[in-house]
Amino acid sequence: MYAGLGIENAVYEFGNAVLKELRDRFQEIDEISEYNQMKVVGAMQECRVSDACLLGTTGYGYDDLGRDTLEAVYAKVFHTEDALVRPQITCGTHALALALMSNLRPGDELLSPVGKPYDTLEEVIGIRPSKGSLAEYGVTYGQVDLLADGGFDYEGIRAALRERTRLVTIQRSKGYQTRPTLSVERIGELISFVKGIKPDVICMVDNCYGEFVEIREPGDVGADMVVGSLIKNPGGGLAPIGGYIAGKRSCVENAAFRLTSPGLGKEVGASLGILKDFYQGLFLAPSVTASALKGAVFAANLYEKLGFAVIPDGSESRHDIIQAITFGTPEGVTAFCEGIQAAAPVDSHVKPQAADMPGYDAKVIMAAGAFVSGSSIELSADAPIRPPYAVYFQGGLTWQHAKFGILKSLQALVDSGVVDRKDLNCSIL
Ligand SMILES: *Cc1c(COP(=O)(O)O)cnc(C)c1O
Repeated sequence: MYAGLGIENAVYEFGNAVLKELRDRFQEIDEISEYNQMKVVGAMQECRVSDACLLGTTGYGYDDLGRDTLEAVYAKVFHTEDALVRPQITCGTHALALALMSNLRPGDELLSPVGKPYDTLEEVIGIRPSKGSLAEYGVTYGQVDLLADGGFDYEGIRAALRERTRLVTIQRSKGYQTRPTLSVERIGELISFVKGIKPDVICMVDNCYGEFVEIREPGDVGADMVVGSLIKNPGGGLAPIGGYIAGKRSCVENAAFRLTSPGLGKEVGASLGILKDFYQGLFLAPSVTASALKGAVFAANLYEKLGFAVIPDGSESRHDIIQAITFGTPEGVTAFCEGIQAAAPVDSHVKPQAADMPGYDAKVIMAAGAFVSGSSIELSADAPIRPPYAVYFQGGLTWQHAKFGILKSLQALVDSGVVDRKDLNCSIL
């Protein structure tokens, strides 16, 4: 079957030799997924999800049983007081912007103690000047970078926590950086430190790509708001749009009043026909996340063996589903993305092209032959065309498809001459 889909024997054998070493890692991933599956099904049962919840409302969406119950399920899964889970939240950036803009007021300061946030948030905050940014509304921004070894700069953070600091934003995943992803445990340590100095500060975690990777979530370690996208892990590949904010009742309420309108809040917002996919996607999310994680671990080990720098490395424990691989050249990242695209169930015949994208400052090449446009819980890869020419690979609704995608990427690198065929020597493994 692989030969028929364009994978030559040397690539296939090399992949399988790498895989042989990964049985224990996969077993561990399956155990986490089993735990999280019980967490999700338990929450659905406790909240008495019924078939009526799968129907939607129209118009104002008053008394939308399915929407309100889904939000209760999310709050249970993330161990928070409340949650806002809506198709009207258009993407992860929107969810984060909503959480920030609704909980900050003019004169407040926002602090990132973990370095520069995700690219699209630069314009939300106003790090890159932008219409409607927090900066335009008189919200200032402070940042403390991680230390060279990836540790927290506790002294720097202490000094940066000022009287006006109202909200601290902590990004779990690395985004387009090469720093380590934060474990839930480390996020908890940081939150404890911050709250020890300033107990009333709101701690928000950008949880994008981190959901269901561990058995705990940031809400278990003191986060006041946990924010993410439904076309990443928690949508399970089925949610066609959406974002969530789970957290303290007061924070979620602020977000709801901003999303709809003061006075209306969570009471409006028709779910239309989308709820079945939100519920079923959440139900599948632990096992879909496990498939994506196996793909990430496989890619790390395979490309590490070929001599490329990979973050996380092949043996590190995982805190998100992203795998960064540094090729060092535009040709390397381009060939990798072409291979991922060629493995897709949708649009496998097209070639991705680097282009300017809203919210990003360098050209970005993206491979995503997805059922849900741009969904990055599906097999996908993207790379800003700038040094160090690292590609960020993620997703895979099934492990088998993730494996195929990685083999296709290697095949494209071999075909384009970036990887030498004679390096595919299983005896070196
Ligand atoms: C994807 C992502 C975002 C933004 O989400 P979009 O849905 O692409 O707008 C924000 N933060 C991190 C860490 C992400 O991975």
